[in-house]
Amino acid sequence: MVKLGIVIPCYNEEAVVADTAAEVLGILGDLVQREVISADSFVLFVNDGSTDSTWQLITGLHSQDSRVKGLNLLSNVGQQNAIMAGMMTVRERVDAVVTIDADLQDDITCLEKMLGYYSEGCDIVYGVRESREVNGYFKRTTARMFYRLQRALGVKIVDNHADFRLMSRRALDELAKYKERVLYLRGIVPLLGLRSSEVSYRFRERKAGKSKYTLGKMLNLGVDGITGFSATPINYIIGTGCLFLVVSFFMMLYILWSFFVGRAVSGWTSIMLSMWFIGAMILLSIGVIGKYIANIFAEVKRRPLYHIDTFLD
Ligand code: UDP
Ligand code: MG
Repeated sequence: MVKLGIVIPCYNEEAVVADTAAEVLGILGDLVQREVISADSFVLFVNDGSTDSTWQLITGLHSQDSRVKGLNLLSNVGQQNAIMAGMMTVRERVDAVVTIDADLQDDITCLEKMLGYYSEGCDIVYGVRESREVNGYFKRTTARMFYRLQRALGVKIVDNHADFRLMSRRALDELAKYKERVLYLRGIVPLLGLRSSEVSYRFRERKAGKSKYTLGKMLNLGVDGITGFSATPINYIIGTGCLFLVVSFFMMLYILWSFFVGRAVSGWTSIMLSMWFIGAMILLSIGVIGKYIANIFAEVKRRPLYHIDTFLD
């Protein structure tokens, strides 16, 4: 039977932890009873340096119910790192992990469907949001534009998937090989190359409390999601440089023609000639330097070169 761990990052979530624990434990209990998961499956709350009573609440829940575990981080490290901390801490004692936000905006009742795909041999099951009506116009459109931009820049990403996802022990072991400091799980998980499927659900309203993602935190995550996975912007700089070089050639013809037919005022010719050519050269040089930096970036990330499927020995 599957031993399941549910990892829940919490940052100042005192308004929701108790309810969330009750709902998740209810579902766990039901799945245990119907022998879908083993009785030692558990919930792990990761306290991401909360400044409210979140950790005290988690401690209380842990003493009431041994299926509740707690991991207290010393400082606020952000949702991505908190999830990683939780997954890596329990990696060796589970068959699979499901990560979900503390506010239960994602539908925890999808758990059984996710486990179904897992038992069919999927190592990763992505939770995908069906509708974003509750999100408000601003967050909805910016999110949609962002997914589109990422795709256009060549980042492999699952549409409308946040961090509600099942990962098998094997997937966690492969994930552990990624040592990067700037973590963007949504970008890394598809790179693992493991068999995956999707479960879609209706996105719900936050149960209580406010969003812990400020606009600044959201933008940061977005920028990390692009710069960590795509060097395409650099190619655009190089492309523009090349285009300018071509333009500068035609401008040269036009400028010299103006000079010889006497339509140019004194000094115009030399300025115009250098402007286009130097502009093109500057863009190209930035692009070339960008390429080197992209290579350095790839080196320092030390991502695994491959993930092995089978080795027939
Ligand atoms: N979170 C965290 N550390 C942070 C910010 C958020 O662990 O620095 C957690 C938060 O407690 C929640 C999840 O990340 O469980 C998602 O945050 P939230 O629901 O506030 O974001 P939103 O759904 O509004 O994007
Ligand atoms: Mg939320």
